[in-house]
Amino acid sequence: MPDFDELTNSPLQPLHSCFLEQAGIHLYVKRDDLLHPEFGGNKWRKLKHNLLLARQDHYPALLTFGGAWSNHIYATAAAGKTFGFNTIGIIRGESHFPLNPTLQFAEQCGMQLHYITRVEYRQKQQADYLEKLQQQFGPVYILPEGGSNTLAVKGCAGITNEINSSLKTVDVICCACGTGATLAGIISELKPEQTAIGFPALKGGSFLNAEVAHFLPAQQKIKNWQIEDRYHFGGYAKINDELIQFIKDFHRQYGIMLDAVYTGKMFYGLFQLIKQGCFKRGTTIVAVHSGGLQGNKGFASLPF
Ligand SMILES: *Cc1c(COP(=O)(O)O)cnc(C)c1O
Repeated sequence: MPDFDELTNSPLQPLHSCFLEQAGIHLYVKRDDLLHPEFGGNKWRKLKHNLLLARQDHYPALLTFGGAWSNHIYATAAAGKTFGFNTIGIIRGESHFPLNPTLQFAEQCGMQLHYITRVEYRQKQQADYLEKLQQQFGPVYILPEGGSNTLAVKGCAGITNEINSSLKTVDVICCACGTGATLAGIISELKPEQTAIGFPALKGGSFLNAEVAHFLPAQQKIKNWQIEDRYHFGGYAKINDELIQFIKDFHRQYGIMLDAVYTGKMFYGLFQLIKQGCFKRGTTIVAVHSGGLQGNKGFASLPF
């Protein structure tokens, strides 16, 4: 069994190309996708402190929520198996057989899958609904959708700490956003002179301004951070040929595979900002590769 603390300190990889050189940008990728082959990415950072608490409080099982392609369901199932928790996945929508690769993997890890309607799924944060699930499944440690809670934010603070202990000057840290918990964690450990930029994977991502602030203690809300919401490609898990071509070109040029839901859109957006001259020459940027590659199996047009 791996130790919880071994699964930190992901590599920081510099990228080199004529494009970056001409723009005068020093760009590094924080390779959280390499933290662990199955529960790597930001989902492991978000799970870590939750699993420590669940173990300390002797919970036999973890229960959580997600869609049929959820990276969080995948990671929770794998981590539960490794660290000795039963896992229960409450899945939005109807069951389909055969199972898609995400749910097939989760089931192979021993996760019990329960399908609920989209209407019922909307109750996933209501206390009385969670109480009902506790009754139904016995003592379970409940993780919200995406694993996003204050312990998840604490885990993601490690991203900034690791970056700042390996590089002397970093001006900007970028990440992809779903719920905004990862961005909040990154912001919480920023130095005063640093900026964080979140790229929402969803349309209308400016709601994240409030969500991120909600995850941060009052004195940290005023740090430098922004939401760049122009690069969602029409919404969550929406893709087009331009994005797919970008992901393929990125892989060819830098040897790093991106996922189409989150990190592909973030890097696309970041490269647009660099092209538009939004960063001064000499700026050092770290972009977080938050994983999610398992989800590429949902897109026929992508190699993975
Ligand atoms: C879940 C996920 C995110 C979004 O994380 P949040 O904390 O919900 O904002 C980003 N990238 C990948 C690959 C993810 O799986």
